[in-house]
Amino acid sequence: NNNRVAKPEWLKINLGSVKGFQNIESMLKELNLKTVCKEANCPNRAECYSSGTATFLIMGGVCTRKCKFCNVKDGSPKDLDSDEPKHIAEAVKKLKLNYVVVTSVTRDDLADGGASHFAKVIREIRKIDKDVRIEVLIPDLKGREESLKIVLKAMPEVLNHNIETIPRLYDLIRPEAEYNRSLDILKSAKTTAPKIKTKSGIMLGLGETREEVIEVFKDLREHSCDLLTIGQYLRPSAEHYPVYEYVTPEEFEWYKQKAEEMGFENVASGPLVRSSYKAWQLYND
Ligand code: SF4
Ligand code: SF4
Repeated sequence: NNNRVAKPEWLKINLGSVKGFQNIESMLKELNLKTVCKEANCPNRAECYSSGTATFLIMGGVCTRKCKFCNVKDGSPKDLDSDEPKHIAEAVKKLKLNYVVVTSVTRDDLADGGASHFAKVIREIRKIDKDVRIEVLIPDLKGREESLKIVLKAMPEVLNHNIETIPRLYDLIRPEAEYNRSLDILKSAKTTAPKIKTKSGIMLGLGETREEVIEVFKDLREHSCDLLTIGQYLRPSAEHYPVYEYVTPEEFEWYKQKAEEMGFENVASGPLVRSSYKAWQLYND
C-alpha cells in the first residue's frame, strides 16, 4: 500500500453482525440482482437495509470506461437482461423497500446509454408499489439530451449524477468523462423536469484544495443541483489511484456548512458518506 498516508481511526469501522442482512443478500442472488451495497462491501448496510433502502446496480457489472478510482470491472459488457426491471420490482416488494436507488455502469456500447432500461426499471417498480421513492444515479449518457429525457419521463424522485472530483483531476482519474458535460446533465434535468430533485456527489482526498472544492460547489449550484454528498475517497486496491489525504470529520463538517450556505437544500458530508448514504433523509428533510 503506497497511499501517502495511513488510515485514521475514524475510518476503521466494525461491520457488526452480518446475520441481519444475509437473508437479503441471498434473495438478491436468487433474483440475479446486483447491489452496490454488497459489491462494494458498504459499511452502511445494516443501517440502510433496516431503514428500507438499497442501491441496485443494473445493466451488469462490466463498464465500458476505466476510471482510476473505481473497482468495477472494465471490458465488453453483456447484453441487457430484459427480466431485470421486473426482478428489481419483485425485490423491492419482498424487501419492503421504501427508497430505492438505481445505478449502473457506463454503457457507451448502447445507443441510448441504457436510458430506456433505467426507465423500464422505474416503471416496473411503480407498477408494484406507487409509493416507493426512486433515485436514479446515472452515468453521463455521453451528454445526450434525448437519452436523459427518456429517464426523466419515467419521473424518478431524484436524478443523481456524480461530479466525483474537481476539474483539474479529471484527466488523471476520469479520463473518459468531461467536467462540463457532467454539470450540464444536472442543469438540463432541472430545466426539463423541474419537479425532480437533482443531486450530485464529490469524493475528497484525491489532492484537491479547499478553494477548488468550493469552486465545484459553486458550479453545481449554478447548474441547479439541489442535493449534495461529500465523502472520503478510499482506494479499492493498490492498482487504483492513491489516497492523497484523509480529510478529518471536522473538515467534512466545515464543507457541509459551506455547501449549505451556498444554497444546497440538503448536504450529507462525512468520511463514510457515499452517494446513496441516507439518501432517504437527504430527499425528505
Ligand atoms: Fe447501499 Fe448506499 Fe446504503 Fe451503502 S450507503 S448500504 S451502497 S444504499
Ligand atoms: Fe466506475 Fe462509473 Fe467510471 Fe465505470 S464510469 S469505471 S462504473 S466510476
